[in-house]
Amino acid sequence: MEPEALAKDISSLSLDQTASRHTGRKGRRPNRAYHTLGSASGTPNTTPFLNASVSQDSFQFTPNVPQAPFSPREIQGSPATMAIPGFPQGSPALMPQSQERLNSVAESPAAAWFPQGNSPVQSSSHFVSTQRWEDQMLHLAKTFETSRDSVPPLPTTVYYSLDQGSCDPRLLSLSMYNIPVDEHLRSATKLPLGLTIQPFAVTIPEEPMPLVDQRAEPGPLRCKRCRAYINPGFKFGYDSTAMCNICGVKMRMPSNDFVSQGFDIQGSDTSYKSETQKGSVEFLVPQMYNAIQDQPAIPLHYVFLIDLSLFANENRSSLAVVEGVRSSIEYIAEFQPNCEVAIMAYDSKVRFYNLRSDSETPQEYVITDVNDVFLPFCNGLFVKPRESMSLIDATLDKIVEHISWDKFSHVASVCYGSALEAAKLAIDTVTKGQGGKIICSLNSLPTAGNGNLVLRKDDAARKNLKCDNDLYKKLGNQLLRSYISVDLYVTSSAFVDMATVAYPVEATSGNLKWYQDFNHERDAFTLINDMMQNVANITGYQALLKVRCSTGLNVDQYYCESSDFSDTDPMIPVLTKDTTLDVLLKYDQKLTAGKNISFQVALLYTDIDGNRKVRCMNTSGAISDNIGEVFKFLNQNVALRIMIKDVIQSLGDCNFPEIRKAIDNKVVDILTQYKALVGGSLTSQLVLPEALKTLPSYILAFEKSELMMPNNQSTRGNARIYDLFKYKNMNSAQLHYKLYPQIVPLHVLLGEEDLSFYDANEKMLQVRPDSLDALSVRSGHQHLTNGGCYLIFQGETVYLWLNENTNRMLLQDLLQVDQEAPISQISLFGGSLPEVGTEVNQKALDVVRNWGHITNKSYLPVVLLRPNVDQHYAQVMNQLFCEDRSIHRIESLDNYLVAMHRRIQEKLKDDDYTKVQTNTHTVEQDGNLLQKFVQF
Ligand SMILES: [Zn+2]
Repeated sequence: MEPEALAKDISSLSLDQTASRHTGRKGRRPNRAYHTLGSASGTPNTTPFLNASVSQDSFQFTPNVPQAPFSPREIQGSPATMAIPGFPQGSPALMPQSQERLNSVAESPAAAWFPQGNSPVQSSSHFVSTQRWEDQMLHLAKTFETSRDSVPPLPTTVYYSLDQGSCDPRLLSLSMYNIPVDEHLRSATKLPLGLTIQPFAVTIPEEPMPLVDQRAEPGPLRCKRCRAYINPGFKFGYDSTAMCNICGVKMRMPSNDFVSQGFDIQGSDTSYKSETQKGSVEFLVPQMYNAIQDQPAIPLHYVFLIDLSLFANENRSSLAVVEGVRSSIEYIAEFQPNCEVAIMAYDSKVRFYNLRSDSETPQEYVITDVNDVFLPFCNGLFVKPRESMSLIDATLDKIVEHISWDKFSHVASVCYGSALEAAKLAIDTVTKGQGGKIICSLNSLPTAGNGNLVLRKDDAARKNLKCDNDLYKKLGNQLLRSYISVDLYVTSSAFVDMATVAYPVEATSGNLKWYQDFNHERDAFTLINDMMQNVANITGYQALLKVRCSTGLNVDQYYCESSDFSDTDPMIPVLTKDTTLDVLLKYDQKLTAGKNISFQVALLYTDIDGNRKVRCMNTSGAISDNIGEVFKFLNQNVALRIMIKDVIQSLGDCNFPEIRKAIDNKVVDILTQYKALVGGSLTSQLVLPEALKTLPSYILAFEKSELMMPNNQSTRGNARIYDLFKYKNMNSAQLHYKLYPQIVPLHVLLGEEDLSFYDANEKMLQVRPDSLDALSVRSGHQHLTNGGCYLIFQGETVYLWLNENTNRMLLQDLLQVDQEAPISQISLFGGSLPEVGTEVNQKALDVVRNWGHITNKSYLPVVLLRPNVDQHYAQVMNQLFCEDRSIHRIESLDNYLVAMHRRIQEKLKDDDYTKVQTNTHTVEQDGNLLQKFVQF
C-alpha cells in the first residue's frame, strides 16, 4: 500500500470526537477569546466515523459487546461489602465526602462516557494530548475503588481513590491486571509482567496511612513460612488459624489474639482492623527490626557540603547554594525539628564548621591533607538547627563573605572525592553508622585529592555511560552500605564527567540536579527552591524493600543500582515522596486461571524522627488464559517504564541507531501480536490495543530524547548523562510529561469552567467537553498557531510561549504588561506568573498549580519562550516537539505509525508472530521466552 493511503488509514483512527461530547453541563458565559481559531489549530476534526466492526477494543469509549461477568478483584474474606456495584455503602471506610462524590457520578460532564460491563475506564484518543484531558474528565466525578477498579488512571490524571483492601494504585501498580496463566501466554503479548512502586506517592484524599502500633515483641503478625505481613488477603478460620495469601500455608494464630481477631470485618472492636481492611498500612515495629541491632533508631542527620572553588564563586553558584542551605536548614528547624545538620565546604581543602550553640562566633577548621581526611572535632559538628540558628546564620554569612571578598584565596581545583569521604566520615562517626543525607554542590571536574579525574581529551567520547573509576564506585557502595545518600547540584556547563562523579548519587538513590550555564539572576531562585523542596520531600531513611507474590510468580529483578539489577532486595538509604522503583516478575510455575494472585510490598524504614516502621502495600490481579482479556487490562505506564528501564540497562557501547532499531522491533512485535491474536487481523487499518493507544507516541519521544541522540560529538556529555539519570529516577507523572510535554493554549475561547478546579479541594482541573478539541494541542510545530499563547510543561519547567503576533490584550490580562511594550521586554519576576486577578491569569495559575500537584512539586519555574528573543528557544523547542521529525532525522509520529503499520502487515503476511491456542495454552511458535527487552 502507498504511504499516502496508509496515512489516510491512520488519520481515520481518530474518532469523530465532537459527536459524542455534547453531553456535559452546558457551559455558562464563555470567556473572552483572544484569538479566533480557524482550522489552524491542527486538531483532528476531519475524521469519518470509525467502523465499529474494525476493533471493538480500539478507540471506543464504550465497548458495546457485554463480556461475561468478570471481576478482576474480589475482597477476600469480606463477603458482604460490595452488594451494590460501584456503591460500597456498607463500607465502614467510606467518607461522607467520597459518598457525595460517588453519588454525583451522574452529574459528571463525562457521565455519558462511562463504560458498561467490565472494561477499564479509558479514554478514546490515541493522541496523548487529547487522551490526558479525556482521562481527567472521566475521573472528575468517579472515585477509583480499589476492589472494583483495576487498571489505574493515567499518571497525569488527578483522581480520588478509596482503599477497599487493595492499596491506592499510585503506591503500587501492576503492568497487567489480568495476569497470563503462564510464561507462554505472557511471551505471546511481548509485554513485561512487572510492577511499579512509589511508596510515598501523595494520594487523594490526602490522609495519613493507618498506623498500627506493634512495637511490642514479636511485632506485626506475619506468615510463619514466607514472612508476609498480615493483610486483607489473609483468611481467618474459626479454629484460630490464618491462611497466608502469598504462600498458601495455614498457621495457628497466637493464642491471645484469637478472641478478638478480625473475621468480622464490619465489627468495630476488632484488633487487626486496619490490617485486614486496608490495602496499605504502616506498622510501628519493635527494636529487633532496627537497622543496627541493639542501637535505637535516631532522627536523620544532614551534611551540607558546599563547593567554594574559584569558578563556583565566579559564576556565583556558590552564593545561590549558600542561600539554598540557609533555606533548607530553616525548613528543617521548623518541620523536621528532631533532625541534626552539619555544614562543610571544600575547594582544594576540606572545611568544617563548628555549630555548637554555646559558641558565639563562627569557627572554621581547614584540613589540608585531603588524601587522608580526619575529623578535627565531633562536639558541635552536628546540631539541631533550632538550638544553633544564630550561629548557623553567622557561619553562612561568613562563607558569603569569603566568596565575595577573599578573592585572592580562591583556588580552581576541587577535591570532590575527598570531601565526600569527609562527609561520610562525619556521619559514620556521629551516628555510629546509622546513616544520613549529604547535600553537595559541584561546579567543576574534580582535580585534587582522592578521586582526582584528570581530564583526558577523549573522555566525553568514551563509548559507555558507566562509572569506571574505582574510587567513586567504591565510595558509592560504601555510602550505600552505611545508609548514606548523596544529593548533587551541578552548576557547570563544562564537562564534569557526570557518569563518574554522580555515581555515588545513583548508587544511593539520591537526587541529581544540573543547571546548564548557571546564571545567578536566572537560576538562583530555582536552585534554592529545588534544594528546599528536596529536603521537604524526604520521608525516611535506612530502608529495605521486599516484594512478595503468590506462589507461581517471583521477582526477576529490581531495576535499581543498589540491588545490582538482580533479585536482591534493594536498600534505599534515604526515601522521598518521589522514590519510585520498577520490578520485573517471572514465572516459577504455571498459575491457575480464574484465581486471584496477591502482591505485597513491604518497606522497612526509619522515619525522619527516628521511628522504625514497616509500610505494607497490597494489591492483586486475576489469572487469565485469554489473551484478549490480558490485553484489555494492561497498564501502559508500568509496561512503558519497564521497557525504558530495559533499554537503559542494555545501552552497552552506545550504538544508538541500533538501539532504536531494537526498540522499534519491540513495538512492532507487540502490535503484531495484538492484531494477529486479538483484534482486527481482517482489517487493513493499523489497530492499537485500547490500553496501549499512546505507547508508540511515548516510545518515539524516548527515541528522540537527549539520551538517545546520535553520538558523533559526545557520548558522556553532561546533557546525555543527566537525561539518563532522569529516566532512572523520575516518578511516573514526571516521566510522562518529560517524554510528551503538555501544551495548554490560553488564547482560545474558554468557558468559565474550563481550566478551573472541579473539586472543593482544588486538585482536579476540568475542561468542558466542548473545549476539548481546542485545548488538546499536539506536540508539533504545525499545531502551534502563529499569534497564540501557550503554557508548555515538560515535567520540571513550565514554558510560556508567545510571539510578536500574540494578542496584546491577552498579555495584559495574563501578565499585566504594557500593551505597547515589545515582547522582548516582558519578564517574569521570580520565575513565576504574577497574580493579576483576571480570569485568564487565574486559569493559567491554576494550570501551573495543577501540574505542580501532579508531579509533586510545590514550585515550578515558569520560563518565557519567545522566537527570536530567548537564547535557548531553538534547543528547547526541539526537545518539546516530540511529534515532529527530529533534527537527527528521526521520523515524525505520523510517518512512524505508517512505517510501523507496514511492518506489521508484512509480519502478518509472513505468518511471523507467536501463536497461542486458547484454552490449551500451547505456543506453537515459541520465540524467545525471556522477557528481557533486548532479547525479545
Ligand atoms: Zn506465607
